[in-house]
This record gives sequence, C-alpha cells and structure tokens, in this order.
Amino acid sequence: MKVLVLNCGSSSLKYQLIDMDNEAVLCKGLVERIGIDGSILKHEKDGMDGKHIVEEAMKDHKDAIKHVLDAVADPKVGAVKEMSEIDAVGHRIVHGGEKFASSAVLTDEVIKAIEYCTELAPLHNPANLMGVEACKAILPDVPMVGVFDTAFHQTMPEKSFLYGLPYELYTKHGVRRYGFHGTSHMYVSQKAAEMLDKKPEDLKIITCHLGNGASLTAVDGGKSVDTTMGLTPLEGLIMGTRCGDIDPAIIPFIMKKENLDIAGVDKLMNKESGVLGMTGISSDFRDIEDAATEGNELAQTTLEAYAQKVKKYIGAYAAEMNGVDAIVFTAGLGENGISMREMICKNMDFMGVKLDAEKNNVRGKDRIISADDSKVKILLIPTNEELMIAKDTVKLSK
Ligand code: ADP
Repeated sequence: MKVLVLNCGSSSLKYQLIDMDNEAVLCKGLVERIGIDGSILKHEKDGMDGKHIVEEAMKDHKDAIKHVLDAVADPKVGAVKEMSEIDAVGHRIVHGGEKFASSAVLTDEVIKAIEYCTELAPLHNPANLMGVEACKAILPDVPMVGVFDTAFHQTMPEKSFLYGLPYELYTKHGVRRYGFHGTSHMYVSQKAAEMLDKKPEDLKIITCHLGNGASLTAVDGGKSVDTTMGLTPLEGLIMGTRCGDIDPAIIPFIMKKENLDIAGVDKLMNKESGVLGMTGISSDFRDIEDAATEGNELAQTTLEAYAQKVKKYIGAYAAEMNGVDAIVFTAGLGENGISMREMICKNMDFMGVKLDAEKNNVRGKDRIISADDSKVKILLIPTNEELMIAKDTVKLSK
C-alpha cells in the first residue's frame, strides 16, 4: 500500500510517498512560496542524484499539490507510474482540540469539526485544511486521513491541563493545555520502549522534541500525562523565535512601554523572541554555538538558559511521575546538538542520569547514549512523524 503524507503550512508543504509494505520512502519533497512570487518545488527520489527542481507559479495549495503529484508520477523522477497507485493520503493537522484523541478519516463532518478548532490554531489549521480540500478535489476517490498534533496529549489528566484561571474560561472558550508535537512524542516513546526491549506500559519516559519549536512530554505507561506546550505552541521551553514561559504580567507591561497592540505583542513573542531575540544573532542553534565558540558571552548564556529550561522540566516531570526510566532526545537540535545534550544532562547524576561522552558523539541515529551504569537510560531517536501518519492512514483507510 502506497501512502502520500502531506504536511501543509500557510505557504509551504512537505510530502513523502511511503511504501507501507516495507516502510520505504519512495520519494519526498518540499514546496515553498505557495501563493507568493518565486514558488519552488524540490523533489527527490530514493537513489536519485541531486534534486528535481520545479520553478513555476503556484497560486494556491491546489496548484502546488498538482505539481507534487506530477513529480510523484513523473516517468524520470517519479516513484509511481500513475497517480492511481496512491492508495491513501495522510494529512498532518495541527489542532484537534478536545474533539480528536486519535486520527480520523476526513469526512465532511470531521472537516467541520477541524474548522471549529481553527480559532485555537489560526495560523496552522486553515493551511492544513487548504491541503485537504485541494487533495480531495484532485484525488476524489482516494481515502484521506487526518493525524493531529494534539491527539496524543488528550490522555493528560485535568490537573495537568487546567490553568490557574477562572474555570469558565475553559468551559466557555476551551482555554486549557492541549500540547503539540504529539505524533513525534508518541513515535519516539514507542521506539524507545522497543530499543530498551520493554513494553511502553512499563516505562516512565521524558521525551524532548528540540527543533525550531520545542516541547517536552512526560509519558507514563505509554500515555502523555503532561507536556510543556499549552493552549498554543508558545508555552514552555525557550525556542528558535518563541519566548516560551514568561511572567504573564510582562505582556501588559511591554504593551504599554513599547506602545504595542495585540498583534504587535503576539509577533514579538512568536517571531522575535527565543534564542533569536535573546542573542540578536539567529534562530538557528548552529549560528549561536559558533558565536559562543568565538567568545560571544550572550550567545553562551543563551545556550545555558535554553539547557537549564529543559533540565528544569526534566526534573519537574521526574517528580510528577515519581521517577523516570528513560530520557529521549529528538528533532533538529535534539538529534544533532551534541554539546546541547551534554549541557542538559550535566549535573543530573544525583537522579541517576549519566551521559556517556563518547556514545553521545553521534548525530541522527537511533542510539542509547547513556553510560552503562546510568540508572536512567538516555536515548537519541530521530523522529519520524511521516511514518506515524502513514501508519494511522493505513489503519483507518482499510
Ligand atoms: P522544525 O521541524 O521544527 O522546523 P527541526 O526539527 O528541523 O525544526 O530543527 C531545526 C533546528 O535544529 C535548527 O533551527 C537548528 O537550530 C537545529 N539543528 C539542526 N542541525 C543542527 C546541528 N548540527 N547542530 C546544532 N543544531 C542543529
């Protein structure tokens, strides 16, 4: 069975065609600048030299998906002979609110329910839905499945998801913690159990998804019991451009001092903060590490502040779960940031966390990187949200 996995952003889309008989990625690619001048598709196929580039105007998602399907079924660079070989499409949907605790077939009713959640993710859900609609128009007879970033966290108990706010803000407006990156946290926690030769039900795991956006999840017995992101993906850790946890009173304070309106302060917290705002250098940790190596003290302090926040939540989640058996690192920085993993795990031997410097000297591979005598296992697991999406798509479209 061949499954196309689509992840649509507002002006970009990522795709992979996966053969689920052997879980091989047949081809994959990225479209950028949809609806903007300079639309570009970069496509690659397993075993192909370089990338196939298409630079043509793509005025909307439907246009972009047409180009994607052309590339996927292209005689030279494609991976199937005809579009009809695509058996199902799995769509990443960011916010499923409280309506979706698992993936769902994208019926009209389900699409309506996702539209209802749009208020909670105004930047993401409309783009995801544009992809669904465009795909349905081009492939009307192919089953479509939605996989939600929030679904894995629906097992969180009320004590984890309620804020210290009037209860009716939750009942009236759905103001609560939802959490994100759920597909990634689920994938790496299940993979960790497999690597440790244990059942997920028997493990307490803290999963650290450290990418441009970053979140930690406490996974107890295979279920998410707490996570750092909240109503939106702004809460929790310091991120590339997002501020994470701050004193909420800072918001009215800076609005007044800097003469900012709601949109202005929203932009400041989402796009101009995080390690970019702290250093003024970049949102990319490689640039900040380079600056720190060259003696930039603010860059060094920023890296330390980032690591400390991760450490703080590891401590908190170990306390919440009454222990931790494994800590997992994943996503761009988690998979590649050797010195960041070292910084985070330093001085946690008091709770049985001991990294092995040599084993940690690795990027992007499934590995146990803790010392042999570390009570808590530390694992590096490259995330694979696409495979998770494809697996659910197979399950639901049969
Ligand atoms: P997202 O999917 O959230 O856009 P990724 O998971 O791809 O993000 O992570 C991107 C981030 O990973 C980059 O901003 C960069 O800071 C970090 N990163 C990638 N490679 C490295 C590396 N070799 N060393 C340190 N950080 C890295």
